[in-house]
Amino acid sequence: MIPLKIEWLGHASFLIEVSDKRIYIDPYALSQGSEPADLILITHDHYDHCDVNAINEIKKLRTHILGSEGVAKKISEAGILRPGDVTDFNGIKIKAVPSYNIGKHFHPRGSGTGFVIEAEGKRVYHAGDTDLIPEMKELEGITVALLPVGGTYTMNADEAVEAVKVIKPKIAVPMHYGSIVGSRADANRFKVRAERETETRIEILENRSLEI
Ligand code: ZN
Ligand code: ZN
Repeated sequence: MIPLKIEWLGHASFLIEVSDKRIYIDPYALSQGSEPADLILITHDHYDHCDVNAINEIKKLRTHILGSEGVAKKISEAGILRPGDVTDFNGIKIKAVPSYNIGKHFHPRGSGTGFVIEAEGKRVYHAGDTDLIPEMKELEGITVALLPVGGTYTMNADEAVEAVKVIKPKIAVPMHYGSIVGSRADANRFKVRAERETETRIEILENRSLEI
């Protein structure tokens, strides 16, 4: 099995490398000289997820960009993925899944998506800016769940623990903290509680990557 390498680039921004493909999700405030992308997935059109400068930094001639309808309005070459849509990128399966707030107005249902990326028999779920939503029950066989823990606009650490109980991933990685909202304390609280109350291993990916 070819390993999948997952790197957290801060906030909700990740780089996944599998075989010779480089997939960015929600690239944001990237450092100069970041490696070029083969595929860019964007969950929704907020500036901290759909960052035009970051996209331009990693985009090359043949880079594919996929995102929600709002993303396609901002990035003209982006293809649209709506929740439920499935597409294939060089043998890597990309599924868009619901991602929205409950009881907050920031992310209405339908305005954004999460993604399940399936490659080499593994599934990586990027939740997007979401609360704990009933559709999470339908996620199956998730190897790694990338979950927001910063609160205010998304789940907080305690809600993310409840999401882990529903999704039951092998590994979960906290995100959406440390720059705009939330702090390392939220990630720590998430790790301590989730590892005490579930079978899931929590990986805080500051300054290191994860290989699965
Ligand atoms: Zn947002
Ligand atoms: Zn956000």
